[in-house]
Amino acid sequence: MIAYDTDLKIFYSTLINDSKYFGGFGTREMGDGRKIDTAINFAQTNIPNFKTIVIPEQIHSVNVNNFSANLIDNVERISETDGVITQDLNSVLTIITGDCVPIIFTEKKYGIIGISHQGWRGSVKRMAQKMINKIIEYGGKKENIFVAIGPSIGQCCYDIEDERYYEFLEEFNGFADKIFHRHQGKLHLNLALLNYLQIKEAGVPKKNIDFFPFCTKCDKKRFFSYRRDKKTDYGEMLSFVVRT
Ligand SMILES: [Zn+2]
Repeated sequence: MIAYDTDLKIFYSTLINDSKYFGGFGTREMGDGRKIDTAINFAQTNIPNFKTIVIPEQIHSVNVNNFSANLIDNVERISETDGVITQDLNSVLTIITGDCVPIIFTEKKYGIIGISHQGWRGSVKRMAQKMINKIIEYGGKKENIFVAIGPSIGQCCYDIEDERYYEFLEEFNGFADKIFHRHQGKLHLNLALLNYLQIKEAGVPKKNIDFFPFCTKCDKKRFFSYRRDKKTDYGEMLSFVVRT
């Protein structure tokens, strides 16, 4: 289940969070995730033993980094990466999104956590499955992986051009009846559902996957949205996960 924490101003998954694992999807009220202070302030206040904040330089790739802290800096930037996994304790993995899909992963038996960012480019190139493969490569088992898919643009607001439709159709023909909808003459794509279907296809049990059902563009009070705000008060939400 996805729940809202009114004190921390984050959404979180009850599949992910327990006494040792802490993850969340930030909101507009938490602050603009593009500003480093948002992450540092949050970690200093709410993550008692935090060691390092890990910030990937997101480039809409499907590159996944296996991170291990060098114990020198408390902010570590990783170049050209949209997904990170770690077995570190107290390293806070982060990504930022404003309409794209943020996803948090845990494999609690082997102590692996992960986070990834996927917009349409990462989704069509199966970023979520690459994350699962990476966790398995480092000893995880797909049946032990828990996944939370965070707030992103809903199919209500995500219309796509024909060219992009054909690109998705070619890769995900089997999901076509589930992920595409026609609305007022335009084709709409359900990006979050596509990621859910990829994760299920990779062998993660359905009961291990949480899914945030609302839309960032529709909910201005809670979320930044690139499509809605790009010319006005645009920001991005910070998502994070840490093993403590
Ligand atoms: Zn919407």
